Amino acid sequence: MNIYMDNAATTKMSATAINAMLPYFDGVYGNPSSLHSVGQAAAEALADARGRVAACLGCAANEVYFTSGGSEADNQAIVSAAMNGAKKGKKHIISTAFEHHAVLHTLKKLSGEGFDITLLDVHENGVIDPLQVEEAIRADTCLVTVMYANNEIGTVQPVKEIGRICREKAVTFHTDAVQAVGHLPINVNDDNIDMLSLSAHKFRGPKGVGALIVRRGTPLSSLIEGGAQERGRRAGTENVPGIVGMAASLEEELKHRAENAEKTAKLRDRLISGLSEIPHSVLNGDRERRLPGNVSFCFEGIEGESLLLLLDEKGICASSGSACTSGSLDPSHVLLAIGRVHDIAHGSLRLTLSADNTEEEVKYVIEAVKEAVERLRSMSPIWRDLVNGKRQFITK
Ligand SMILES: *Cc1c(COP(=O)(O)O)cnc(C)c1O
Repeated sequence: MNIYMDNAATTKMSATAINAMLPYFDGVYGNPSSLHSVGQAAAEALADARGRVAACLGCAANEVYFTSGGSEADNQAIVSAAMNGAKKGKKHIISTAFEHHAVLHTLKKLSGEGFDITLLDVHENGVIDPLQVEEAIRADTCLVTVMYANNEIGTVQPVKEIGRICREKAVTFHTDAVQAVGHLPINVNDDNIDMLSLSAHKFRGPKGVGALIVRRGTPLSSLIEGGAQERGRRAGTENVPGIVGMAASLEEELKHRAENAEKTAKLRDRLISGLSEIPHSVLNGDRERRLPGNVSFCFEGIEGESLLLLLDEKGICASSGSACTSGSLDPSHVLLAIGRVHDIAHGSLRLTLSADNTEEEVKYVIEAVKEAVERLRSMSPIWRDLVNGKRQFITK
């Protein structure tokens, strides 16, 4: 048995996306920059995919820049806004403490190059208040970058409001929407977004391909130099099969988005109520303002990594935080940002569902987690101290 509940790490590709890609590996294999007919067939596929991705997000085709994924899109958006801001003497950037590392590490690098970075505190419910952004904006602010939805705790941010404030103050607004695209209704115009990052493998498309949406009027500098691909903003022969697969999976996911979201949210809510019965547990992130598939908990007195191993033995694929930080023993920066203390943050479990999951799987997972937490606690000296009153419980 294999129960996959790690869709925030990556998703299973849709048959539609796989089939859409196949002709571009052998039949239409040309380089879109070639002038001959084999190349021009690939160029046509590229133009078609660009138009379809744009239509899905409410922007124009020439506002779409294909990249190698979400990380590259985040890097390019931030570095470009920083370089263009610096030209006007603006070297202040506003972001949040719980962004993806593709954002945080890029900002850290810029701070070493003379940029002033403000990381907004995140409330315990995992939602940023637009007023925090408004109060942080200065005359020398060149960029606000706030994620659309968090990858660990699933909380959805008031992006439209933040975008409105940025527009009022004439500050560029970028959002890492990698967890949101394909799962929430997004329109870059309605949401007041200047730049938006997305990644195909988070919505049942292929890995290694994504896009940066940049609205007309927002300057964009290149990160990768070379040929004139992507209107001179991103060199390198285009990943034609990947881009075609991304367009196909995005269209497909949006076509079924509302019904999938409803089904997934129902499973999510059942899972949350089941796991809430475990004593000394706490749900991470707001109960309502969260992605349809996200369940994130901390269990006091255990280690998240041990829990993952026990669940894996029972055929359950889960995560303790983000895939990018597993392997390190530091607790998740996201959980620390919402105020979870180290002892609690270490006992984290993230289950991210898709519409492929079933009620039977949810029932099985609730029982498996209950059993595993109990088993780990029975072996834990910390738990013994908590029960004997030698340590204070932090959770209820
Ligand atoms: C997965 C993810 C990324 C990175 O995307 P890749 O395509 O894997 O590089 C960036 N931001 C968020 C919020 C993500 O979930």
